[in-house]
Amino acid sequence: PPEASLTRAESLIATIPDFPEPGILFRDITPLLADAAAMRAVIDAMIAPFSGTFDVVAGVEARGFVLAGAVAVAAGVGTVPIRKAGKLPRPAASVSYDLEYGQATIEMADDLPAGSRVLLVDDVLATGGTLLAGRQLLGTLGYATAGVAVLMELAELNGRAVCGDDVHAVFQV
Ligand code: AMP
Repeated sequence: PPEASLTRAESLIATIPDFPEPGILFRDITPLLADAAAMRAVIDAMIAPFSGTFDVVAGVEARGFVLAGAVAVAAGVGTVPIRKAGKLPRPAASVSYDLEYGQATIEMADDLPAGSRVLLVDDVLATGGTLLAGRQLLGTLGYATAGVAVLMELAELNGRAVCGDDVHAVFQV
């Protein structure tokens, strides 16, 4: 049953204290990604609320790429990368945003048809800054955000107040 697979999948997310800095509890999805049944269950769960509402999946570098590619194939659509600054040969738009310490910039190309409905995917929703910037990037390029799907939401940080209530998280901690 899907619930049993999801329970097992959640148990495969490792919690690493003090990485990459003291005080951060890092959620490491690597063991989950390596498990076929767990991967299948979470990919299906990410798609379910948005089934039929998106034309393409955008993943945020780098763990978002792995999930976005799998979501895209399972849903029968394509995928596009949202990359950190300086990696894309033909960036069409870029958005800068504040992190806890310092700033980050993400970029995207404009290879999709105008008005494409894009499902935005990442591994972890923390403060919501990254996914808000992703939405802004899609809007700047004339694409519609069909929704936002993440594997895990860190609920106490209330990132959904920042990046939008239409976020679907497979797991909440
Ligand atoms: P934020 O912009 O604060 O929502 O952070 C989201 C981005 O940072 C995502 O791409 C996550 O991969 C990463 N991230 C933030 N906090 C964590 C955490 N505690 N564990 C794993 N990844 C995290």
